[in-house]
Amino acid sequence: MKIHIIIVLALSLAGCQNVRDRTHDWDRGAWLDLTWDYEASTIYWPTNETFSHDTVSYGINEKGYFYASFSYAAEEHGGTHFDAPLHFSENGRSVEQILPGEFTGKGICVDVSKKTLVDRDYLIGTEDFMEWEHRHGRIPGQAIVLLHTGFGQYWKDPLQYTGTLKPGPEGVRELHFPGLDPQAALWLINERNIKAVGIDTPSIDPGQSEDFRTHRTLFSHNVTAYENIAHLELVPAKDFYVVAAPMKIKGGSGAPLRLLVWIPED
Ligand SMILES: [Zn+2]
Repeated sequence: MKIHIIIVLALSLAGCQNVRDRTHDWDRGAWLDLTWDYEASTIYWPTNETFSHDTVSYGINEKGYFYASFSYAAEEHGGTHFDAPLHFSENGRSVEQILPGEFTGKGICVDVSKKTLVDRDYLIGTEDFMEWEHRHGRIPGQAIVLLHTGFGQYWKDPLQYTGTLKPGPEGVRELHFPGLDPQAALWLINERNIKAVGIDTPSIDPGQSEDFRTHRTLFSHNVTAYENIAHLELVPAKDFYVVAAPMKIKGGSGAPLRLLVWIPED
């Protein structure tokens, strides 16, 4: 009996130690905000309206206290935003139907900037993920895969970022930025069982895509996407936690996204 109690005590102390270690990890680390500001200059698809933010009230009111309030209008797919399966899948789920467990989780970041910065139409392929795995180990199941093309550095220069300044269909034809190869998207889904994919360009498909096969492949498998991600150069290759919380638009095909990653200290 005595031995039994000692074993139980030892096990519970070991358990406490684990809990304490985990708490310790969560106390030490940093949040990174991978979200661009929403403002008049925020980049939208050439056929979309841009973001508007108008003053309803601003200043000392008739009762003598300060009061500020604004109205805003935004298309779903501009700035740092979330794509729900409904975007390219008729029976796909809309934004409010995506559960918190589906937009949070462990992340990996695949740096392909050496290739994309010399070839702006580069297709990120399965070999890029193989190369990542060779250095960092197998992509964990249910990973949120962030693709770092380096295009985030062009955010304040829309011509460099998208390839065009023209609005409308003419602008769409001139879009040039890298994207994910649909075959690689299928490989990530079937072979690595990923949860979501994000990229620091306007679209998960390359700018010159006309059939949006990567979007369609992801969404038909219920994998969500994040676009126009900020500051991916600050994100390590692995061992971080992602919170990608979209605005809960009922029936929405996408939504503005506050994208955060937690990077624990070693
Ligand atoms: Zn989108």
